[in-house]
Amino acid sequence: MDRHILLAAAITAIGVAPALAADVIADPDFPCEGFCAQYNEAQEPFKIFGDTYYVGTTRLTALLIDTGDGLILLDGGFPAAATVIADNIAALGYAVEDIALIGNSHTHIDHVGVIDALQKASGAPVAASPAAADAMERGHAMPNDPQYRDTEGYDYPPVSNIRRVSDGETITVGDTALTAVFTPGHTPGGTSWTWEECEDGECMTVVYADSLNPISNDTFRYSDNPDYLDAFRTSIARVAAMECDIAIVPHPELVGLLDKAARINEDGDNPFADPMGCARYAEMFAENLGRRLAQEEADQDQDE
Ligand SMILES: [Zn+2]
Repeated sequence: MDRHILLAAAITAIGVAPALAADVIADPDFPCEGFCAQYNEAQEPFKIFGDTYYVGTTRLTALLIDTGDGLILLDGGFPAAATVIADNIAALGYAVEDIALIGNSHTHIDHVGVIDALQKASGAPVAASPAAADAMERGHAMPNDPQYRDTEGYDYPPVSNIRRVSDGETITVGDTALTAVFTPGHTPGGTSWTWEECEDGECMTVVYADSLNPISNDTFRYSDNPDYLDAFRTSIARVAAMECDIAIVPHPELVGLLDKAARINEDGDNPFADPMGCARYAEMFAENLGRRLAQEEADQDQDE
């Protein structure tokens, strides 16, 4: 870290923008084909509000927060997205080496796949719920994940240096107080994150709400797992009730994030401000979960 501070100071002294191209190498064991290729297209980074920026691909969210004393990165995409994200961070004038903390929504390859490469380039610790940490250390979903499959195609690069956080814990980096809100359901370790951003004297609460999609492998049934189902319903209710001026989610199209980005330069209010964003997102998945349970019941009736 000291080396980077010295380097940044030296660069500032000679008046060059401190956008250092980091040596970020996407894990070659995870080629980007099919689904990954569709989700890995480069997206120009943009500011959301205050010191929070979108640095992800066209289809998968990665967020960068400039805390004033290091960067926080939340999520990122498939392993191959590591270089896309690194380029976006550099394009904003930041350095991957200055990432001080990495957080994750949930431990599926399309969100957690980049973390190993970006952690290697930055040395940053990862903050995660205990259940998410267990999966990340293994580099594979745990057997209690509704989408669990014991096949190689479900591996991702394992992550180390994980700080296990508790539900409601706030981690402070620089000026940013980032709070973890556990939202299990889509995965057992699912976590939403919230923090405050201010700009020109106006402050807004930003929520990075985790996926709440009730999908599974061929054998898992929510109705056979009442405790898990209860926890899932609680998660949906928590997201709906969160103080939320700006809602961002792992799959950006679910809150129309890029459509909002297209309106950035129009006069008027910040296009991302939407105090009902979290509630609408939660409602959509409350309905999905209802349909899923009805389907499970119908399938069972057919089997009997
Ligand atoms: Zn997922």
